[in-house]
Amino acid sequence: MIDDLMQRLGVPDNLYQGGNLTVTTPVDGRMIGEPTLHTAEQLRAQIDRSQQAFEQWRQVPAPRRGELVRLFGDELRQHKEDLGRLVTLECGKIYQEGLGEVQEMIDICDLAVGQSRQLFGLTIASERPGHHMRESWHPLGPVGLITAFNFPVAPWAWNAALALVCGNSLLWKPSPKTPLTALACQALLEKAMARFGSDAPTHLSQVVLGDTELGEILVDDRRVALISATGSTRMGRAVAPRVASRFGRCILELGGNNAMIMTPSADLDMAVRAILFSAVGTAGQRCTTLRRLIVHRSIQQEVTERLRTAYAGIRIGDPLADNLVGPLIDLQAFEQMQEALVTARSKGYTVTGGERVLAAEYPDAYYVEPAIVEVPAQDDLVRAETFAPILYVMPYESFDSAIAMQNDVPQGLSSCVFTTDVREAEQFVSATGSDCGIANINIGPSGAEIGGAFGGEKDTGGGRESGSDVWKSYMRRQTNTVNYSRELPLAQGIQFD
Ligand code: NAD
Repeated sequence: MIDDLMQRLGVPDNLYQGGNLTVTTPVDGRMIGEPTLHTAEQLRAQIDRSQQAFEQWRQVPAPRRGELVRLFGDELRQHKEDLGRLVTLECGKIYQEGLGEVQEMIDICDLAVGQSRQLFGLTIASERPGHHMRESWHPLGPVGLITAFNFPVAPWAWNAALALVCGNSLLWKPSPKTPLTALACQALLEKAMARFGSDAPTHLSQVVLGDTELGEILVDDRRVALISATGSTRMGRAVAPRVASRFGRCILELGGNNAMIMTPSADLDMAVRAILFSAVGTAGQRCTTLRRLIVHRSIQQEVTERLRTAYAGIRIGDPLADNLVGPLIDLQAFEQMQEALVTARSKGYTVTGGERVLAAEYPDAYYVEPAIVEVPAQDDLVRAETFAPILYVMPYESFDSAIAMQNDVPQGLSSCVFTTDVREAEQFVSATGSDCGIANINIGPSGAEIGGAFGGEKDTGGGRESGSDVWKSYMRRQTNTVNYSRELPLAQGIQFD
């Protein structure tokens, strides 16, 4: 299957076979590719070429740059099923979610095409006669993109589509666990470039295959104007100071520890459906996965029972078949999940689920039952992001204490409340409510649309990607003061003669 897919997606054999990086599918542990890792020297040459490509690309008018992204969106539409299937094969999320990830890429292309005609600046009133001021936005430079295994293609596209219309070149270092999807996206972009014509420089976009060592070279290079990095908080802690030390720019999209507050007035049917999608979808491996359910004590028992019943009906198995939960990415992820559950049991918490399943059928893959852990109060186990399907359920007494509990974790990505009380809903999204970058009412914390800015506060890194005014992160701002008079007055009325 993999060869057919790669062929249809336009990836030449030599790019993903016979190399020194072994890629296995989490579906059954089979080897699916052996691309070649780049060396440090090759990466430096790629950065040289990226700089040259940027110098050409920034001269192409922005609406014309948008045309390239439009063509790329076309390629994605044509190859949605194949790319979605490859996402599923390489990272293990179910096919519906693989398709969803590609749809998100298409959506951001559409948004970026429109944006290419709206890179608006400002005109500003000058205090001096015969003068005017304006603010302009200019292309920034090569953009270094570092991405995580669990969303192997969409976050790249959020960055790439906007960075391209803003006039920048791209260097993409995907997770070494998911390089094949990166090679496929690059092949589709190159197809779009071939249709676009010669004003797209050959090395406008390049893929860098490697792990931390190569990532650090990319991060340290002064020519890479912006580093947009998606991954763990650990990675962000390593990357941020390095970029800051050279006064580079950073967009950080790091770990989350997302909560739902469920109030006594909540629509329980809706809330349980929302919990199911956001807590067990992608096998708990979304940055926005629901990890903490803060439920009013008066409904805790009913909610927990309903959840146990709903969890018992979850179809776990081959993500390309009709299942809701696929495998964890690898053995390490499975071990981290088990470690958290052992700790939970040792503290006397009630654990439902969490066992490995289908081990006989898939000895080299890690399928698990999603777990529910009932916890009397939030502790350090709950405050840590375990990247697996574990839902901690905790009671609250007053709405203020529920908000305090929601905020009392290091991460600040996504959050939500289920309530039909307008006061509670508005308090949750007010300045004294959730401290997260995303705060939803009556929908779960995961599954964002590309129109809004995506990202979070605190240990989530503070970055924003996708819609709203995020395009400004990929451009440099310039303030212009123009004197069209025959005098030279100074600002603030200063006399200098
Ligand atoms: P990871 O941190 O292990 O790796 C992410 C990427 O960073 C990889 O490409 C890796 O090679 C690179 N990297 C690691 N250390 C580096 C360093 N010192 N310098 C340069 N590059 C380095 O993360 P993962 O296991 O692939 O992904 C899961 C994590 O990502 C979770 O914590 C999840 O919450 C987070 N995530 C966040 C978002 C978001 O938008 N906030 C989205 C997806 C995933």
